Amino acid sequence: MRRPIFLDRDGVINVDIVPYVCRLEDFRLFDWTVEALTLLDRAGFDIFVISNQQGVALGLTPPEVLSQVDAAIQDAIAPYGFQIKSFYYCTAHDGESHPWRKPAPGMILAARDEFGLDLESAFMIGDKDTDMECGIRAGCRPLLVMSGVTPHGGEKWFAHPPERVFESLLEAAVWVTSGA
Ligand SMILES: [Mg+2]
Repeated sequence: MRRPIFLDRDGVINVDIVPYVCRLEDFRLFDWTVEALTLLDRAGFDIFVISNQQGVALGLTPPEVLSQVDAAIQDAIAPYGFQIKSFYYCTAHDGESHPWRKPAPGMILAARDEFGLDLESAFMIGDKDTDMECGIRAGCRPLLVMSGVTPHGGEKWFAHPPERVFESLLEAAVWVTSGA
């Protein structure tokens, strides 16, 4: 049976930039992303992207850029015969208490309901405290990667500590697919 795995986008799949990935030209996959995603697919994981994009509410990110980025990710992995199962974005402003905005678990719960997922053994991989909290609140196992905004050792200050810390999505994928 295939298992769900939830990935934050910026800082996990692609290079995070300031303020946001506002244009397709700003979007750059990490060198290891395709290999990591392929490893997860081959090991039986269905991959979901769970991402806050308040740049849309702020008028910095045109909404169509989200789907352009989705297409760029899908195009990059298409030669390997799989696709990201679904992308969830919260485009609300930080100041709004939107049930989808991480650290709230709404996007993961929406994926659960839409696809009938069992979250019990699911992982949430992110680069921030809010990703860890979102995963924990959804009943998932939180894994941190250091390819985003958290500096080395920064997780010590997290209110919601990760189960494990990895340098990259590839390192996390190797661990997850080796029987975690
Ligand atoms: Mg991130």
